[in-house]
Amino acid sequence: MAHKPADEILDLQYFGEFGGVNPSITDSSTFTFLQAETMEELFEIEKEGCYLYGRHTNPSGKYLSDALAAMEGTEAAHVAGSGMGSISTTILQICSTGYEIVASRTIYGGTYAFFKNFLPKLGIKVHFVDATKLEAIEAVISDQTKMIYVETMSNPLLEICNLPAVSKIAKKNDLKLVVDNTFTPMIFSPIQMGADVVIHSLTKFINGTSDAIGGVCCASKEFIGSMMDVNNGAAMLLGPVLDGLRSASMLKNLHTLHIRMKQHSKNAHYLAQRFEENGLKVVYPGLENHPQHELMKSLYNEEFGFGGMILLNVDDPKVANDLMGQMQNANLGYLAVSLGFFKTLFSNPGGSTSSEIPEEEQLEMGLSHGMIRFSIGLDNDIERTWSRMKVCFKNVGLI
Ligand SMILES: *Cc1c(COP(=O)(O)O)cnc(C)c1O
Repeated sequence: MAHKPADEILDLQYFGEFGGVNPSITDSSTFTFLQAETMEELFEIEKEGCYLYGRHTNPSGKYLSDALAAMEGTEAAHVAGSGMGSISTTILQICSTGYEIVASRTIYGGTYAFFKNFLPKLGIKVHFVDATKLEAIEAVISDQTKMIYVETMSNPLLEICNLPAVSKIAKKNDLKLVVDNTFTPMIFSPIQMGADVVIHSLTKFINGTSDAIGGVCCASKEFIGSMMDVNNGAAMLLGPVLDGLRSASMLKNLHTLHIRMKQHSKNAHYLAQRFEENGLKVVYPGLENHPQHELMKSLYNEEFGFGGMILLNVDDPKVANDLMGQMQNANLGYLAVSLGFFKTLFSNPGGSTSSEIPEEEQLEMGLSHGMIRFSIGLDNDIERTWSRMKVCFKNVGLI
């Protein structure tokens, strides 16, 4: 039977210390032991229900990790203080000097900068490819290659990765397939399609309230254990922990994620259709003209829709900026980076979240400064939103 991410989370049962319906929040960085021997033992090996020191793991972080592991269908997970914290520690856990990575060229700007500028300092080389072309991935695999790195739905071009096919390439060459699923929590279940590690920035849809930064790496018990190893673990030694109080608040937000994703998708699909009807250049995987529309239909968890992100190309950066200003003034959303908030957010990806990618490479992959990336909000009446949005589009001469 297909993996059901929302039901997996719902089936978890928590009891707080005094019978609370939410798990008690542990506001401690260190933990006491009844016997000195137990402490020595715990330093060497992890023991269920035993905690030593907050950088290793804390109970509130563990509850959140367990819920995210259930969502992705992995044995374990490790939550971190940011999405980049999860990405960087995962990469450094797998790769050492001399190793190579094959990465999609359309990835989050911070990840791109880490791959392009930081990893070479450690002697790790990254080949950027058009990951929608399987032969392009295969062409750069060498004996040094250790990993394929992709986003399920790419930022900001919204390309869909053919994970089952890429996973076949990874398995054939004995590579780890690491997938950033930030844009599509619940919509895609990458582990079921052959991924080895799934990463999210919790900052976006999963937390959903734009009040905190966090990340997660979901994988096998063995891999997560190695990340947390006191002698060698990248997460343990580089130390991007997620605070217990934040872990607790994110866990509470996670419990409405399935409802939010459906509404984000419903609203984005509606607006993308209106944009298209009005002759605008719109990229949305739910539209039939999207290059991977059929692929997405064959891979996604249908009940959660095609996602909350839309890319609009208005060709002219000035028009894009005018339109965003108008929409903010009309209280249709905020001119802000990030995504997954209850209000619509919009920004120019070329000049902001993908600005780490050099101009000529942006053009080559199809990014231009006349683009607007929308993260569509949870508006209750999206027809009303469109009727007001249409006025802004008219004012800047787009329709
Ligand atoms: C935001 C984002 C990240 C980085 O996450 P932070 O929580 O900001 O560190 C990584 N990948 C994608 C796709 C993102 O949108």
